[in-house]
Amino acid sequence: TSVRCGYLEDETATLALGKAFAEAAQAGLVVYLLGDLGAGKTTFTRGLLTALGHAGKVKSPTYTLVESYPLSHYSVHHFDLYRFADPEEWEDAGFREHFGQDSLCLVEWPDKAADLLPRADIVLELAVAGNGRNYRLLAHSETGQSCLIRLSI
Ligand code: ADP
Ligand code: MG
Repeated sequence: TSVRCGYLEDETATLALGKAFAEAAQAGLVVYLLGDLGAGKTTFTRGLLTALGHAGKVKSPTYTLVESYPLSHYSVHHFDLYRFADPEEWEDAGFREHFGQDSLCLVEWPDKAADLLPRADIVLELAVAGNGRNYRLLAHSETGQSCLIRLSI
């Protein structure tokens, strides 16, 4: 598996990582975002969405569990499963249909729905380090690997 890692000294650097990732990404990718509250998972997502042409706000989907963004190239679904508790809700809410070759899915707190979620192509780990954040990107599939190879950071 391929790995990319580095240091993000401020919020701008996290947004820039999201942008670089957007430029390397493709529809069909499933990305798990790991890290404590405040690690920068939603900030990274905001950088990615802005780079893909989203102009409005990026809300943290803490209560809604998912926010969907129908963008010009493909749809992005941003999950935050911190409060996910009821496996039946997964089917009832139609979350499964969000995953597929036509969309890019980003998932915060994937461990909360581990048995229901499709496997990750890429895992991004973020951790507070000093005033900034350490990050690590790991590819877990060939699609994920080719994305990391394209990544210009
Ligand atoms: P999470 O979604 O992981 O809970 P958020 O992205 O919502 O975290 O919040 C992260 C907080 O940390 C925000 O206040 C953001 O401005 C800040 N932040 C993001 N990246 C960095 C960084 N590289 N260095 C310092 N602060 C950062
Ligand atoms: Mg968040």
